[in-house]
Amino acid sequence: IYILAIESSCDDTSVAVLKNDIMLSNVVASQKIHEEYGGVVPELASRAHQQNIVPVTYQALAKANIDKKQLSAIAFTRGPGLLGSLLVGTSFAKSLSLALEIPLIEVNHMQAHILAHFIKDENMNAPEFPFLALTISGGHTQIVKVKDYFDMEILGQTLDDAVGEAFDKSAKILGLPYPGGPLIDQYAAMGNPHAFEFPKPNVKDLNFSFSGLKTSILYFIQKETSQNPDFITENLADICASIQFTIVHILMGKLKKVVKKTGIKNIAIGGGVSANSGIRKALKDAEKEMGWNTYVPNFEFCTDNAGMIGIVGYFKYKSGQFAKQDTSAKARYNLTS
Ligand code: ATP
Ligand code: FE
Repeated sequence: IYILAIESSCDDTSVAVLKNDIMLSNVVASQKIHEEYGGVVPELASRAHQQNIVPVTYQALAKANIDKKQLSAIAFTRGPGLLGSLLVGTSFAKSLSLALEIPLIEVNHMQAHILAHFIKDENMNAPEFPFLALTISGGHTQIVKVKDYFDMEILGQTLDDAVGEAFDKSAKILGLPYPGGPLIDQYAAMGNPHAFEFPKPNVKDLNFSFSGLKTSILYFIQKETSQNPDFITENLADICASIQFTIVHILMGKLKKVVKKTGIKNIAIGGGVSANSGIRKALKDAEKEMGWNTYVPNFEFCTDNAGMIGIVGYFKYKSGQFAKQDTSAKARYNLTS
């Protein structure tokens, strides 16, 4: 089975070709235009998708060495995401499926972040069911109980900002360019995580809240820079390390809680923030200290990519879950629907 998969939910245009669960190509065109605005501008994103989608598709086919006539189905991200961006991928996928006379498969982007672990790869082990997925991305922070490929239950989620937003907004306060998450990670490696202390929110159950953290960082920086204008440049590594320590501490605290509650020790992370070295290290430590089995995706499968859409497409193809031509993009799209 050859699946061509299309991802266009935010600011990356990506197309992948899979042969069963093996990825033959995974081309990602990242949009640079948003950097100068300090965040993704939806209208510019959809325009860039329109420019990128045809060349990226040709590149993915060429890299996979597959002719479009060999394809078995077209999978695409239906949602959640930016409506204008989703519409580009959705319309393109529908037209391809119509022209090639092959089935169309709609994919939930958040399910894909979780099921990315099942892409066959020598550096990755697929988690065993049931497992707990911690999805940490630019728009979501969720703890999900995964009983089977398409049997998922949300046990907790953020009440306000996503963890990726917490990284990016903190970075913005520090004057770092968008997206700042990876930069905080880089500076954190050179700093002392206990140099500064930020309050950890006390949120009930398995839910999260990150908007207070952003505010306390803002007040802290305003106070310090009013006394010393060079405070940020002099302490950047320590500030980043302390922010990262706080976020990782919050995430690990909830994971410990959910393991205790469910008795499940298989933990898989997904989404862009799972590229973060702090959370990766904390999970490695938890394997030794608490006997967890942890699963961390390769870097290329953490942030948005079509490979993860393709693996969901493959599972849906095998179980006969196809979409019709009247399907449409869905900006809000529940994980469990
Ligand atoms: P969603 O999947 O919720 O729709 P999204 O697709 O925009 O959101 P992803 O592409 O999965 O999000 O993740 C992007 C986020 O990951 C950004 O907030 C970025 O800063 C963050 N990120 C990427 N790498 C790192 C890192 N090393 N450390 C911290 N954050 C990171
Ligand atoms: Fe994503």
